[in-house]
Amino acid sequence: MSLAEQLDTVTGSAAGTVDRHATTETFESTAPAGGAVVGVFPVHDEAAVGKTVARARVAAQQWAALGFDGRKQRLSAYRGYLARRMHELADLVHRENGKPHADAILEITLAVDHLAWAAGHARKALGPRRVSPGLLAANHAAYLEYQPLGVIGVIGPWNYPVFTPMGSIAYALAAGNAVVFKPSEHTPAVGAWLAAAWRAAVPDSADAFQVVTGYGATGAALCRVPVDKLAFTGSAATGKKVMAACAETLTPVLMELGGKDAMIVDDDADVAAAADAAVWGAMSNGGQTCIGIERVYATEAVYDRFVEAVTTQVRSLRPGADGEATYGPMTMASQMEVVRRHVADAEAAGARVVTGGPSADAFPAGGYVPPTVLLDVPEDSPAIKEETFGPTLTITRVRDAEEALRRANDTTYGLAGAIFSASKEKAMDLARRMRSGMTSINSVLTFASVPALPFGGVGDSGFGRIHGEDGLKEFTRAKAITRQRVPLPVNLMSFGRPANAADALARVMGMVHGRHR
Ligand code: NDP
Repeated sequence: MSLAEQLDTVTGSAAGTVDRHATTETFESTAPAGGAVVGVFPVHDEAAVGKTVARARVAAQQWAALGFDGRKQRLSAYRGYLARRMHELADLVHRENGKPHADAILEITLAVDHLAWAAGHARKALGPRRVSPGLLAANHAAYLEYQPLGVIGVIGPWNYPVFTPMGSIAYALAAGNAVVFKPSEHTPAVGAWLAAAWRAAVPDSADAFQVVTGYGATGAALCRVPVDKLAFTGSAATGKKVMAACAETLTPVLMELGGKDAMIVDDDADVAAAADAAVWGAMSNGGQTCIGIERVYATEAVYDRFVEAVTTQVRSLRPGADGEATYGPMTMASQMEVVRRHVADAEAAGARVVTGGPSADAFPAGGYVPPTVLLDVPEDSPAIKEETFGPTLTITRVRDAEEALRRANDTTYGLAGAIFSASKEKAMDLARRMRSGMTSINSVLTFASVPALPFGGVGDSGFGRIHGEDGLKEFTRAKAITRQRVPLPVNLMSFGRPANAADALARVMGMVHGRHR
């Protein structure tokens, strides 16, 4: 199916999943580079969302009944479909989100890998198993299994419009749920393409994965309809609104929110490698990465060399829409203002600003932010405290790694971070004490590409986990079953038990546990 056919399909009916007459209002998705219209999509109201979720409920039962093998086979077909059309999807991501085609390929690759892992590991993580019944229930068999919740609502952001929602979609589907996905209003075409691809690859379970489009109200409708769990990825501010809406229907939520991730560069670090990783971690995708590096704390021993290496690298970066550009425009024009405010505020507070790129003239007009390094930024500045979400990096000189860790942890966020150190023991110790859900040592962002590792944050970065076994379990409820194998001569849980049974039990417990002091 070509891109043009996909967009014909999705225009006016969000991948054909909702009756096009169910709603009349539409909105346009436009390319951040140049403003061309990428597609026109319906604004689905609560009634339309309700119909979609009702269809998903029926599909969820059939999907769950397929079992792990049936679902694995269909998820593999979907993965194959995506893998064969990577360039087509990457082209759409490039047009609608603005990132370079090569970065879109990388993003889709990660999503495909997660699909494979989730489908391949669901049975082992979730399938029925026997557990020890323990002493008190020794005459019973005990069983544990993780059952699907039903219909999962997924609300996704625009910055990684394939990879990020797939972290919920793939794991929710593999766990046996149906999914209704509401993509960001800035990337509805990518969301609709993903759902249309599902229908094409898995026609016998088409309604197991559907898309609704619109603004915030469409996402909020998922809470009210309601779904059985809502997986939200976006800003902390919107996350709070979504939680409040879901509280009304007691709908459980998974919150993947923003970050202010820090890198620590220790005395013995490979400075060139750390600088290279920091620049990629901060500037790739135009800095619009929840797990992007926004702050670096470099020790006195390496600070000067690190700053020099970073600023040299940054001078060779160039945003643009062409094939040679390092990164694209800001996907949301309004983000420019946030970045500008953070840089201006830091400068006013005495920070040194190193702007990269060949020369300011080389940047095309529009939503292109030059790569920007901020030195000596006061710790209470917005550039240190708030998520900037642009191609900027603060670098702060610290006495040692302990001070770096203290400052890195001094944030309300806690999504991820990085440590650069030659000492495995010291780096592991720092990583464990970093207040974040994920930390990479001597690299950046690597944990996101390891499907077996859970992904998620602490504090204002949210709660719950996607990816890995935890990510599969996130979309299930644990089910406990016991089966009596043989009756005991004395049944303690019966009004007919002998009067001395409690004394006998106390004696046994004294023998088994009483010797522990
Ligand atoms: P927003 O919080 O603005 O929006 C996220 C999603 O929520 C969008 O689909 C949006 O729809 C929708 N939405 C907005 N208002 C409501 C509402 N009241 N009820 C229900 N849904 C609503 O975030 P952005 O799209 O700007 O994404 C960037 C943020 O996401 C950053 O903070 C980033 O750090 C974070 N992020 C976190 C990740 C993680 O895994 N932890 C990964 C990627 C990004 P619409 O766009 O139509 O308004």
